[in-house]
Amino acid sequence: MFSDKIIDWYRRNKRDLPWRDTSDPYLIWLSEIILQQTRVSQGLPYYMAFIKQFPNVKSLAKASENEVLRTWQGLGYYSRARNLHKCARLVVDQYNGKFPETFDELIQLPGIGHYTASAIASFAFNQRQAVVDGNVFRVLSRYFGVFDDIASGKGVKKFRELALEILPDKNIPDYNQGIMEFGAVQCTPGKPDCSSCILNLECYARLHAAQAQLPAKTQKTSSRVVHFTYFVFIKQGKVWMKQRKENIWQGLYEYLLVEENTDPDKWLQQHGVENHVILNEAEKVHILSHRKIHARFVTVKLNSESLPECLKDHNGFSFSEIENLPKPILIEWHLKDVLEKLEEPS
Ligand code: SF4
Repeated sequence: MFSDKIIDWYRRNKRDLPWRDTSDPYLIWLSEIILQQTRVSQGLPYYMAFIKQFPNVKSLAKASENEVLRTWQGLGYYSRARNLHKCARLVVDQYNGKFPETFDELIQLPGIGHYTASAIASFAFNQRQAVVDGNVFRVLSRYFGVFDDIASGKGVKKFRELALEILPDKNIPDYNQGIMEFGAVQCTPGKPDCSSCILNLECYARLHAAQAQLPAKTQKTSSRVVHFTYFVFIKQGKVWMKQRKENIWQGLYEYLLVEENTDPDKWLQQHGVENHVILNEAEKVHILSHRKIHARFVTVKLNSESLPECLKDHNGFSFSEIENLPKPILIEWHLKDVLEKLEEPS
């Protein structure tokens, strides 16, 4: 039987990861949020940092949003961190620090979607819920020969129904973990290891040489190219930054941003920035899932007494203060690789 084989394979092959073999919903939830759209090798150090700094949901709820964003820094998709924090506060305020146990309650919490609600309900509370993530789409589509588009709502519904239909009555946590692990380790996207696979005698994709066609997915539109010019104003040893109020980097600190590739001298002149020296310029390309950012950094030392008008909603921070601020990875790169190497930034 399909599920028995998966459970047996999982028990013999599972990777030793710190969020396995626990039924603590806090640890399971934390690992699931961190691992969304993130490789295990990348997410692991973040998971360790979070449990060290916030060992339980109450300590996470008590933290400031800045502390949470700072710990998350570099992992991207910052809305996950903000929702993580909101969710922790809600669990403490409304559920007295205990995660609800049912799928229907879990899915109401911030940042918890169908997959994460199923994962917590089954791993932590042994509920009869089937998890369906990218790995599960791949294994099911290949093994059962399902060609429905996994990027369509109809396709997703079909896979969820199939996953529930084949869910075993017992050992649900091991089965759910197992099918995801099987997809991550054996039935991989590029080169599935079919020759050593326990399912290879009956697998549709193997029998029809259709591994490369499955799962079926309509192509994503290509990512958009955008240009940023950051003006890094320095005055008396302080760097002028602002906290973003919107977008994916909401809550993070960055330099004055002009969202286009502008001529620095012209822009400074047009904005009345007088008595200044441009110390250096640097460029960096940053690729996100939906955007390719060409960023240009212009470091400007201000010698004037007063601040120019364009910095009125920015604040000056020393280097040690900046260290503790949450920042986009682009800004972190510039601070470490460019600004801290300047001979005399002040
Ligand atoms: S035989 Fe190949 S394609 Fe089929 S489940 Fe195994 S690894 Fe995946």
